[in-house]
Order: sequence, then structure tokens, then C-alpha cells
Amino acid sequence: MGDWHPRDDWSDVALGGTHMAPVDDVFVHHTGGDGPAAFDGAYLRSIEHYEMSRPGDPLDAIAYHRIIFANGDRAEGRGPDIMGAATYTWNDRSIAICAVGNFQNYDPTPECVDAIVFEITWMIENGFIRPAPRIRGHRDAPNNSTACPGEGLEAHVDDIARRVGGVVPGGATPAPAPGAPGPGGPALLVQGSVGPNVATWQNLLNAFAGEALDVDGVFGALTDGATRRFQAAHGLVVDGIVGPATNGAMADLIGFLGSLPGAPAPPAPPTWVPAWPGVYLVNPTAGNGTAQWQAQMAARGWSIDVDDQYGRQSEGVCRSFQIDKGLDVDGVVGPVTWDAAWTAPIT
Ligand SMILES: [Zn+2]
Repeated sequence: MGDWHPRDDWSDVALGGTHMAPVDDVFVHHTGGDGPAAFDGAYLRSIEHYEMSRPGDPLDAIAYHRIIFANGDRAEGRGPDIMGAATYTWNDRSIAICAVGNFQNYDPTPECVDAIVFEITWMIENGFIRPAPRIRGHRDAPNNSTACPGEGLEAHVDDIARRVGGVVPGGATPAPAPGAPGPGGPALLVQGSVGPNVATWQNLLNAFAGEALDVDGVFGALTDGATRRFQAAHGLVVDGIVGPATNGAMADLIGFLGSLPGAPAPPAPPTWVPAWPGVYLVNPTAGNGTAQWQAQMAARGWSIDVDDQYGRQSEGVCRSFQIDKGLDVDGVVGPVTWDAAWTAPIT
């Protein structure tokens, strides 16, 4: 593995930009031209200055979140929670990782591929990319017409997806995300957990611990921090793990607040929601709870075949439902969309 180079190592441009919630999509790019084999600040500055003066379409910083060199050196482009500018119509909900080179003409080095895997894994572990992301080459991004990232790098994209536990479109089912509910349900919630139980915990922290978390069903760094603050404030072991003691302290708090005059009402007991299967349902896929979700959507009145195949029809129903309910419209059944199929009012 090469070295890590934060933005301060090379850029003279202050990073602004639009904040982005954790994403489900990663696109792999190449620079499309030969470049240095190892980190080179002047080279990165030249790319950034070019992109900032692009006729008709100037950017406010380099377009990518990460730039990877042949020796495995890794450079920070934009922060992993700042909108990029490299993948048309996908920039507000994807991470862009760019390898230096023209992979139409040659293959990436193993060190380069390893470094891409390393960066995606880091961003998953730190809550910037949600578990089981879709990893695609730029040319596979809908609405984009490009050879990027070149045949040589494109050939490694499915392997990169498998190595980070991601979704390989049309390929094998990824392993369940860490913390995904297993048989008998999750005993603990911890950073990396996903699903409706995490969303419930986030709701409780917001309602009773003064936090302002996104209720997205993903236990990332922010939820971990909020959990630790809650534990510290209640004399618990501060380990970021929601086990019986932490859960019990929350239950006591709800009971106590609920007994005070004028106290906020405790949230309504959640409707029973089957555990999200831990796999993002994306067209095309089959199984992994698809039939259960289809049956629920049919019961809500949607015209949908319960055939356990998540194809165009299911994606269409999913998108319409997401629009209806004000969710992120991506046609993918992740933890939030799954949860809403049971909890959102039928209108
Ligand atoms: Zn590209």
C-alpha cells in the first residue's frame, strides 16, 4: 500500500461545496492520460486548476473524491461528504474515485486496485458510503456516455465490488453487511449495523437525547458519537455499543420523561417491521426478501407481481413509492425504503 496524502499536501484551493449524505453508489474513473506513477502534488494542482478554468463548466475544486496512483499512493480530492463533479446526474449521491492513467491502453497495477479497495472500505467503515454499495465504472453510470475508466480498469470493477462487500449488478449476492440482522434478530447495534432497528435507535436519540441525526438506518460515525454521548451522560460504559444496558437506560429515560407533566410524549410504539434483509434490492436481483417486500407493496395496493424477482416492474413501483413518501428516489430498496413499506401511512 502506498502513502496517504490529505488535500493539504497538494492543493492551494479551499474546499467548499455541498454537503452530501452517506451514499450507496461509487463510480471508478481514470484520468484518461498518462500521469506520474506516484503521488505528485504539482500534477494534481494542474488537474485542479484546469477543471477550475474549464470553459463553460468551471468547477470549484478537483472533480474527484480520491485520486489513486500506480504505486498505491492515495490522495484526497474532495472530502468524502462533499458533492463531487465527475459523474453527470450522479454527483449528489455518489463517490468518485479516479485512478491516474489511461486504462484503455493498459491494465492498472495491483497496487492501484488494492488502493481503490482500501479507500472504498475506509469510507464504508467511516459512514460515508453505506454498506453493500453499488460499485461501477463511470461508463456504466446511467446518463453518461464515456469510455472511462477504460477497459483495463473496468475489468477490475466487479472484483473491487466483491472485495468491499458491494453489489455486483447481475452478479453474485454480496455477503450480508456487518451487523445485518441474522436469524433470531440482532442482539446488539454497533457502528456498521444497518436496518430498521438502527433507525429506531436514531429516532430515540433525537427525541430524548437532543441529537439531530439523519434517521437513515445506518449506524455510522455520527450515530456512534451520539451513542457514546448518551452513554457518558447516563453513567454507562462508553463503548458505542447499544446492548441491554444502553437500551435499558433509554427505556428508563422514556418512562421518566413520559411521567413528567408537559414532557414530550414518547414516540408511538413502532409498527412491527420485519428486519431488513441486509441486502440492497436493486434491479436486477432476486431473493433476499424481494418476495416479502413485493407482497407488502401488493397489500398496500400497488400493482406488482410477487415473483421474488426485483426487475423493472419492482423498480418502477419502488421509485413511485419513494416519490410518494418523500424518500430519496433511487429505485433501490435499502433499509429506509424497506422500513417505510410497513410504517408509512397508506395514502
Ligand atoms: Zn470518468
